Amino acid sequence: MDRKEEIIEILKREGTNTAKRLADYFNVSLMTIYRDLKELEDEGKIIRKHGYIKLNEKKEREEDRCSFCGKQTDKRVEVTIYTTKGEKYKACCAHCHFMILKNNKIEEIDIVMLQDFITGNPINFYSAWFVVGSSANPCCQPSAIAFGSKEDAERFSKGFGGTVGDFKTAYETTIKLMKAGQKVKLSI
Ligand SMILES: [Zn+2]
Ligand SMILES: [Zn+2]
Repeated sequence: MDRKEEIIEILKREGTNTAKRLADYFNVSLMTIYRDLKELEDEGKIIRKHGYIKLNEKKEREEDRCSFCGKQTDKRVEVTIYTTKGEKYKACCAHCHFMILKNNKIEEIDIVMLQDFITGNPINFYSAWFVVGSSANPCCQPSAIAFGSKEDAERFSKGFGGTVGDFKTAYETTIKLMKAGQKVKLSI
């Protein structure tokens, strides 16, 4: 994590802060911190007011919310959607991206990226392999968890159940499971 990202994390944790405290924290000069803050401000990520710094909540919310369900996204399973118009959207997980596709919520989708659930490597949504409806539910249910290779998806499915499939199969399986309703596991 670079210093600017860390500043954002600190502001998320502590609310407001001052340049002086941040400079002390990172053990760098005030000039250095001012430069970081200026950049963060230009990117619209923070607001500076009367010597205090805080997150630009509106910007944060828009960037980190699922375009389908509105949930805060989590890096491990989030999906990033780029359109041909140069816009960028997020879905909290593959499940919600399937819902976005089904409902045509985003027009002119170009590139869609997400992370391999095991390695965290970026993979293309449309060439990824998915395990749908397993007992692992890191986000929405039925879960659709992505992998870069079919072998990893199959290995995961051996442990957690669910159906292995490419993008198209996973999409159809998710829609089918949604229509059938959720299987409810009872623990007595
Ligand atoms: Zn969502
Ligand atoms: Zn989700």
